[in-house]
Amino acid sequence: MSVRKIQKQVCIQCFQPFEAEPHPRFGSVPTKCPKCRRTDPYRQFISRKCVGEWIVQNDVDWKALMKQIEKPLRENANRPWKYDFKGREHGASWSGRIVVWAEEPPAKGEIVLVRKMQSTYQIRVTYEEYGSIGALFKFREVVNVKKPVFLPLDSEEGELVEETHEYFVLEKVNQELQPQYRLVLYTIGEKTTLKGYGRQEFMEFEHDPQSVDLAIAYGQYRTGRAWRRTVLSLIPLNDQIIIRRFGHTGSGKTFSDQAVI
Ligand SMILES: [Zn+2]
Repeated sequence: MSVRKIQKQVCIQCFQPFEAEPHPRFGSVPTKCPKCRRTDPYRQFISRKCVGEWIVQNDVDWKALMKQIEKPLRENANRPWKYDFKGREHGASWSGRIVVWAEEPPAKGEIVLVRKMQSTYQIRVTYEEYGSIGALFKFREVVNVKKPVFLPLDSEEGELVEETHEYFVLEKVNQELQPQYRLVLYTIGEKTTLKGYGRQEFMEFEHDPQSVDLAIAYGQYRTGRAWRRTVLSLIPLNDQIIIRRFGHTGSGKTFSDQAVI
């Protein structure tokens, strides 16, 4: 049985400390940190920064929502938890994504620090004419679609652009701290059917202007007859979000209900 030792190193490229394990056969130790060792030919890491932080009362049941990522991060034996929600969950034409990391998902009512992070990468991209989508459908407008094609960074085609991702980190803090906001996650949406037949769903939504929406994932059917939006938001401590749904079923019955978040 071999005993492997973790060594503390300083990266020769970025001068940041990192922990490394000697190669099991050759005994050599990496001289660059994992960040600088990244050799993805398509993306170059540029920066990572914190662009906002708030002490909040967590009112999201993350334990019910979060999923453990499949693989542990290479250099980290502790598996962080990740919540990753994309607008495509709400329909074929979508935008936005909500990404939250935490060492462990906080319980409902727990006081946590929310950090908003921005990471920037350099990528190389070119746009390919996709032809005219929708030309097959006589009743639709013909739309010329361009599709991005990602190229290796050292390619001579395309152009270098910066791509920024936003994500959030929830950190444990002293429970005596006074929170500034409540952290909530909610979904709203509406649904109508062609010519007004079938189930119709509408909603009314009360939203405090002092709320801060951190991330929004939006999606809709291609026909535009239904849309849904999931929002991660900071709302004032004494505030509630009220979502009223109403409409009627295909057989003419009306319904209404209300959710308080
Ligand atoms: Zn480094």
